[in-house]
Amino acid sequence: GERRPTDLNALVDEYVKLAYHGSRAKDNEFTCKLVTVLDPKLVKFNIIPQEIGRVLLNLLNNAFYAVREKKKNADPSYQPTVTASTALIDNQVEIRVLDNGIGIPDSIKAKIFQPFFTTKPTGEGTGLGLSLSYDIITKGHNGGLEVKTEADGATEFIIQLPLA
Ligand code: ADP
Ligand code: MG
Repeated sequence: GERRPTDLNALVDEYVKLAYHGSRAKDNEFTCKLVTVLDPKLVKFNIIPQEIGRVLLNLLNNAFYAVREKKKNADPSYQPTVTASTALIDNQVEIRVLDNGIGIPDSIKAKIFQPFFTTKPTGEGTGLGLSLSYDIITKGHNGGLEVKTEADGATEFIIQLPLA
């Protein structure tokens, strides 16, 4: 893939729909509230769209998996929700993927970016998604990828990409 000036709002919107469609194809009983907050001031960023798309797909697939898992043991009032947002902050774009799923325990938080680390059953995960995503963002785009876990189980991944 080659770098191209890319509308990240359109890319995020497209991949949210794609990932949701994919998780509903596996389990058509599954529904999830989708929230997309796109910064109208966002300018085009020079990125490799296929690669940033792979990162978004992985983060979103992880988010939908986490809320599906949580739903198995949650009370009926549980509302699975995945939120994706973009924000132009100084000369960077910040793309956030937030879910209210099972969360990441402190004991495994340090390992999730390692290749082949997975807590999913065989066939459900290779453990390569986050390590590949980390390389695409940091080595491929000079950006940053970090995770925040809230006490209530919410998980948020934050991608930062520089404009230049
Ligand atoms: P895989 O999805 O194949 O397991 P990843 O590299 O994408 O591999 O993720 C590694 C691990 O990080 C997952 O198995 C899971 O334990 C944890 N993880 C990633 N995203 C989330 C999330 N949104 N909520 C809870 N756990 C997560
Ligand atoms: Mg994954």
